[in-house]
Amino acid sequence: MRVAVAVGVSTPPVATMRSSCTRRIVAVSYRFVSMHMAAAPLSRTLSTESVAARLTSAGLLRTKGLIGANWTDARDGKTMPVYNPSTGEVIADVPFMGSKDTEDAISSAYDAFPAWSKLTATERSQLLRKWYDLLMANKEEIGQLITLEQGKPLKEAIGEVNYGASFIEYFAEEAKRIYGDIIPPTLNDRRILVLKQPIGVIAAITPWNFPLAMITRKVGPALACGCTAVIKPSELTPFTALAAVELALQAGIPPGVLNVVMGDAPAIGDALMANTRVRKITFTGSTAVGKKLMAGAAGTVKKVSLELGGNAPCIIFDDADLDVAVKGTLGSKFRNSGQTCVCANRILVQDGIYDKFAAAFSKAVQILQVGDGFSEGASQGPLINDAAIEKVTLLLIYIELKGADVLLGGKRHSLGRTFYEPTVLGNISSDMIVSREEVFGPVAPLMRFKTEEEAISIANDTNAGLAAYIFTTNVQRSWRVTEALEYGLVGVNEGVISTEVAPFGGVKQSGLGREGSKYGMDEYLEMKYVCLGDMNRK
Ligand code: NAP
Repeated sequence: MRVAVAVGVSTPPVATMRSSCTRRIVAVSYRFVSMHMAAAPLSRTLSTESVAARLTSAGLLRTKGLIGANWTDARDGKTMPVYNPSTGEVIADVPFMGSKDTEDAISSAYDAFPAWSKLTATERSQLLRKWYDLLMANKEEIGQLITLEQGKPLKEAIGEVNYGASFIEYFAEEAKRIYGDIIPPTLNDRRILVLKQPIGVIAAITPWNFPLAMITRKVGPALACGCTAVIKPSELTPFTALAAVELALQAGIPPGVLNVVMGDAPAIGDALMANTRVRKITFTGSTAVGKKLMAGAAGTVKKVSLELGGNAPCIIFDDADLDVAVKGTLGSKFRNSGQTCVCANRILVQDGIYDKFAAAFSKAVQILQVGDGFSEGASQGPLINDAAIEKVTLLLIYIELKGADVLLGGKRHSLGRTFYEPTVLGNISSDMIVSREEVFGPVAPLMRFKTEEEAISIANDTNAGLAAYIFTTNVQRSWRVTEALEYGLVGVNEGVISTEVAPFGGVKQSGLGREGSKYGMDEYLEMKYVCLGDMNRK
């Protein structure tokens, strides 16, 4: 295994994009302009090298794909580097796999299916429970791996391990509750039954922003139902996936039940879509790729579930509790430096509370500490890569040109690389690009509204429909607005709402299907109607 560390690979410079537009820094009574973020120094408590060495000795820095029982290179020997987004250092190389490797992985999952699906629910449940125990026993190490390759602060990364592992625990329990049905027959010589059976081999394609949880949310229920899987993690964050499946093997989950390929995403995707042995595709990622996969799945009529991008409105009504609204909005917007699908993307604030909220929210944002995920006290890590920071930088240029106010931040952080200042924008309108697109960065746009009807209309004026948040102390309003919002998830006076026990998923172009909860099982099961005839014979 080659672990290339401290190479100091520098990412290409972001083009100097600050245009000649005059930045509007608004003079306000509260003091949050021209601020200096409380930046943690880049001198980190843990270096890429020391974390990599520790994880290697724990056997958790796996650098090959997994096909059956074999940790494998790409057939053609190609590799790709994986970077620490905070420093630009190469953590290690992994195989750059393609369609042939994917075919191998599908065959492996297909061959493992009969034995795995024939285990009793109790046996599968016990193996999943052991996997959960191992994930929890190694949560520090997995958390470090997440910070190393994804960048989020270590505390938040360990939080993701708890969250990710919770799906394995929950679905270990649900494995025992796959009930069928007996239906009263329409003819007296018949009996009508419904069986629920595993769908078969599934393909799980996952993004970089939750390198563990987006995998466990899929394979937890899949394995509980008796399916086997080919996992394709993001090329940006493969190590967490590989460590997780290493622990699955250690737990006794048989080889072939979980397989991991990574590398040439379109080639892998095409191979998965074209193969008739793959009976289901479950994808989390961008809406654009989700649509492509949905079209690809049509050729073999696979079952499809999609968890796609959001454009979450966060509505603060005049009657909101200010502290609750600030805390909830902060939690929703700045988690993972704004890089989640459920991050508040448009913060709609009613006229009467706008100034008070803008001041209190900006004050809270101001104290967020930016730094390497391993540095003490950092709550805002780097963005994932140059493309992410370029996107945020360009968005800022566009909206400043359109007349938005920069209340706080608004530029790359002095730490450089892909660090961006937590930013608050005012005077945003619903036609601005920041209101139309998922920002996926630490930028909080505030928009003023007058009436409840106006807020609902702005909130629903998007093709996305994943998460929405409302802050109000009026119970009737909370019901009225919740019912009117065209979203799959609604947080009322709460900004962080994901949990393994509730159904997660979007409406409109944010996706199809639900993950987590008892409903998450249905995505991996087929119903079989059985009719018993001639039942009056003696
Ligand atoms: P992405 O570019 O769509 O990538 C997601 C996954 O798809 C990665 O594994 C990627 O591989 C793979 N991929 C890319 N092109 C592909 C193709 N042609 N065929 C098959 N696979 C392909 O999304 P991302 O930038 O990683 O993730 C951010 C997006 O995910 C955001 O829009 C966010 O809202 C969404 N998201 C949604 C949820 C949800 O639950 N609704 C949760 C988290 C994130 P490579 O990385 O190797 O290219």
